[in-house]
Amino acid sequence: MVEYSPSSPYFLQSGRRQGKAIEVLMFVNYPWLVNLLDIIQRNNPRVKNRLNLQLEWLISRGEDRTSKRMCPQCQTNPLAFFAALGNSRDGYSISHLFASCTQQSCQEKLIGYAGGKMPSLLSLQFSSLLQFPVRHDRDMVVRVFRSAFDLPKRLTPETAFNFFASL
Ligand SMILES: [Zn+2]
Repeated sequence: MVEYSPSSPYFLQSGRRQGKAIEVLMFVNYPWLVNLLDIIQRNNPRVKNRLNLQLEWLISRGEDRTSKRMCPQCQTNPLAFFAALGNSRDGYSISHLFASCTQQSCQEKLIGYAGGKMPSLLSLQFSSLLQFPVRHDRDMVVRVFRSAFDLPKRLTPETAFNFFASL
């Protein structure tokens, strides 16, 4: 089987988000994209169309991006986790400084900063966005992603596509 490897962004052909690139929607409304792929897959098409292929590709790429920033705790290893302190009712504290690498000692520092409360440690993967039902909280996670992956504030379809296409 040849791995699907697209050369350009995919723009939605219909619906309320017609004309939007799915690569940009990864940052704007990730749960909606996951749900869209779920609906397509439930229909179990015999031949996958380009939207189906590109969504599968994109969502898997959202899981293996590497941070361009170092862990704020040790400044040695790439940032891999961010902490979320709070709950969906009162809101969360989420920041690129409240983050760590994979080392246990760095993760323990984060827990120490939380002042007796227990933060959730989430990996720097787009699927972590599914933990946050409230949009405002997801936007904070996206800000951590932008910082960790060194992305511009305004993402064009091409910038977003190139980010996911890079190895
Ligand atoms: Zn570290």
